[in-house]
Amino acid sequence: MDILIIGAGIAGLTLAGQLEQSGHTVQVVEKAPGLRTEGYMIDFFGAGYDAAEQMELLVELEKIHYPISGLSIKRSDGATRYFIPYPKLRKLADNRHFNFMRGDLEQVLSRRLRDRVPVLYASTIQSLSQDESRVHALLSDGSEWSGDLLVGADGIHSIVRKLAFGAPDRFTRFLGLWTAAFTFERTSLYEDVQNSFDLLTEPGRQISVYPLTGDRIAVFFLFRSNKLNPRPTREEALRELSCRFGGMGWLVPDILQKSRTASDFYFDAVAQVEMPEWTKGRVALVGDACHCVSLLAGQGASLAMAGSYTLAQCLANDDVASSLSAYENKLKPQITEVQRSARKFANFFFPDTKFQLLLRDAGLRASIVPVLQPFFKFKSIRLPNQES
Ligand SMILES: Cc1cc2nc3c(=O)[nH]c(=O)nc-3n(C[C@H](O)[C@H](O)[C@H](O)COP(=O)(O)OP(=O)(O)OC[C@H]3O[C@@H](n4cnc5c(N)ncnc54)[C@H](O)[C@@H]3O)c2cc1C
Repeated sequence: MDILIIGAGIAGLTLAGQLEQSGHTVQVVEKAPGLRTEGYMIDFFGAGYDAAEQMELLVELEKIHYPISGLSIKRSDGATRYFIPYPKLRKLADNRHFNFMRGDLEQVLSRRLRDRVPVLYASTIQSLSQDESRVHALLSDGSEWSGDLLVGADGIHSIVRKLAFGAPDRFTRFLGLWTAAFTFERTSLYEDVQNSFDLLTEPGRQISVYPLTGDRIAVFFLFRSNKLNPRPTREEALRELSCRFGGMGWLVPDILQKSRTASDFYFDAVAQVEMPEWTKGRVALVGDACHCVSLLAGQGASLAMAGSYTLAQCLANDDVASSLSAYENKLKPQITEVQRSARKFANFFFPDTKFQLLLRDAGLRASIVPVLQPFFKFKSIRLPNQES
């Protein structure tokens, strides 16, 4: 089959590699100017780990893994209230768990394509149409493409979803939270930030700080707000962040200063994507574009990889309609369950009151007690060849 993939993130690159290996002709279109190197740290476990194992990627992933020592829960004066060792937390994922930068994972997936799949960077899709036998796309460089299948792997704000299925707000469930993330060069102020995720939580706001290689520090904010403009400008986002996190102690005043000059500043609503259908004729969606579980699930990247792996397996059968329906039937009910459990986890992990904060802390501490661990396991999905 001739297949066009829009988006060279985790879902798009995984899918491109798998389809190419099965003998399909694949082309990828990506709006970024090139492969990303920056980004944020992700936890990677569950079905994505299983898919990576089946794609024989574990050795490569081991090389980009950050051996984080644990989760250090801070007080506002910077002292550690308690520490959860990561080796104990990893048991929740049966020790099948990595931490790495999203950009590093994309580099691994991209190397796997070994120049056999063309990736057209700094480009996007402008329009699409389809008839019974072909799907057609007009790209932003003016070229036209026609083929058997077009896949939107273009993330939570998917343009393919908008072109083929309709307005984004029909499919987005806002979780009432906003997030920001960026990196900066370490200074002497950060000498206590060593080898852990340092987390400071107050009702309605939370910040985590962790070290990266190359003497860089990464930060990740979460705060509750239902009032923000849905598409804030960078200036509005910076103002909101300063306003929400003003008065917070520890390293926060310095971090807020640094946000103004960050070159990789990321700011977005925390949301899930829920759609009645993920495919329409010869157009399909994968990853966050159709089933974003939200960053609070801690497994969007993993599910993006697992979803693409599943779609590629289903497309081994050359009939588009039956392949796509097998893909949806296998994955959709399982992802719906993960989304439900992610919403519960979001309420637990992000407390709005002092009482909820006490409960969260008690839960975090309990999660590493061996006899209680079965109650804290994350829900994930099964790959097609793991079905009972
Ligand atoms: C701060 C933060 C922390 C997170 N932590 C975790 C975690 O710990 N564990 C985890 O598993 N997940 C985590 N996630 C979620 C995870 O990053 C996503 O679920 C995952 O990246 C989804 O992969 P994707 O390939 O579907 O989409 P994306 O990663 O969003 O990739 C989409 C790609 O499409 C491109 N694109 C977008 N629009 C267009 C267009 N119009 N034309 C062409 N190309 C386009 C984008 O540039 C991008 O390359 C986190 C997310 C955030 C924001």
